Amino acid sequence: MKIDVLTLFPEMFTAVTDSSILGKAGEKGLLDIRLTNIRDYSTDKHHKADDYPFGGGAGMVMLADPVFRTMEAIGASGKKTIYMSPRGKMLDQNMIRNLAGEKELVILCGHYEGVDQRILDYWNMEEISIGDYVLTGGELPAMVLIDSVARMIPEVLKSSHAALDESIYSGLLEYPQYTKPREYRDLPVPEVLVSGDHKKIHLWKFEQSLLLTKERRPDLFDQFIEGKPQLSKEEKKILEKILELHT
Ligand code: SAM
Repeated sequence: MKIDVLTLFPEMFTAVTDSSILGKAGEKGLLDIRLTNIRDYSTDKHHKADDYPFGGGAGMVMLADPVFRTMEAIGASGKKTIYMSPRGKMLDQNMIRNLAGEKELVILCGHYEGVDQRILDYWNMEEISIGDYVLTGGELPAMVLIDSVARMIPEVLKSSHAALDESIYSGLLEYPQYTKPREYRDLPVPEVLVSGDHKKIHLWKFEQSLLLTKERRPDLFDQFIEGKPQLSKEEKKILEKILELHT
């Protein structure tokens, strides 16, 4: 997948995009992230990229012209274009899955008070928010989007199974995880996890996932039930017990 990022601060990205799983995906040619500095396309002698808003108001607004020129230079026409924005639709796993199906994405990061509306209208940009809070710029939100989308690209994660097991992906929150040692400062790991009985372990994980989801995210829990999941006899029993005990 090729992702073009338009930003005033490209240097913010490399620590994230060159490290860990994203870095490896880049090396393997699964992910091609191209950072373009909008300021390079400003025709102003001081490389100005923002100005005061018409009609007054606090702060500065990013100018249309440098962004239009950058979009033209990278060949954005006809591609899926996104503007990171607190006004946008909230990013969730469904959107991420759909975005992962695109071959190319163009992401615009705003700064200051935002961007000239004509950019969004002309380039038909989808506004996407990462949460109900306001950040200084679109760079961190763009990194969140890129990281979450990249994990959905087949082969980016070593084991596709790992992707299916995660919180949210399965419709439930993840069960508690433990690693070595078996006992740490008098704190043992649950006996079942070291029993070697794979069926029991699976059912324990399922039960823990259900309990955590019911407690922390009742909305997800209800969605899970409404989705009529295909469950084994044992899984059904666990679900029924939880529904009985907790209603
Ligand atoms: N004045 C804008 C408003 O009220 O909607 C907020 C501007 S914010 C200070 C600067 C930039 O950060 C925005 O243009 C956007 O690109 C980015 N940004 C801030 N919060 C965000 C969020 N929750 N999700 C996505 N992008 C965000």
